[in-house]
Amino acid sequence: MGNILHRGAARKAGEARLLKLCPNEFEAFRAKFMRYVQRDSDGCWLWVRARDLNRYGCTTLKMPNGDHAPLKTHRVSYILHIGAIPDRLFVCHHCDNPPCVRPDHLFVGTAADNAADMVRKGRNTGPRGPHQDSRPLSQAELSERIAAMPRAAARLDRALAFCLK
Ligand SMILES: [Zn+2]
Repeated sequence: MGNILHRGAARKAGEARLLKLCPNEFEAFRAKFMRYVQRDSDGCWLWVRARDLNRYGCTTLKMPNGDHAPLKTHRVSYILHIGAIPDRLFVCHHCDNPPCVRPDHLFVGTAADNAADMVRKGRNTGPRGPHQDSRPLSQAELSERIAAMPRAAARLDRALAFCLK
């Protein structure tokens, strides 16, 4: 299992490089990215290539030293269509659909928003409804849900560790 901080740093470097591409390279990258996106019947734009265990789309960006920086496609889409992700914030889904990269289904949130998002996704294992349970959770409700879900709690710890680094 990779070192989460190292992977986070590599991803950050990849995202920083993406923002520094010249306009032609940026457009070429966006055009290539969009070739692997398919609309579903809910209007989501699904990433059809590699996905991680949490169903987020994955891709890489070749760095000047030849390394391939790992990237998450919902974050890439935010950068390509909206702009830089504010420092320490997460990109979350209004649609609760991890492989979705449609920019207007994405929003930036705090670690707490992201944790609530993850807990909701962990809970919704059946067919997904639009904007299911999108009411913001109180801190007490959130703690209660996380306590009941060891996997989500572990992910929250890692997310917070990365966020507070
Ligand atoms: Zn969506």
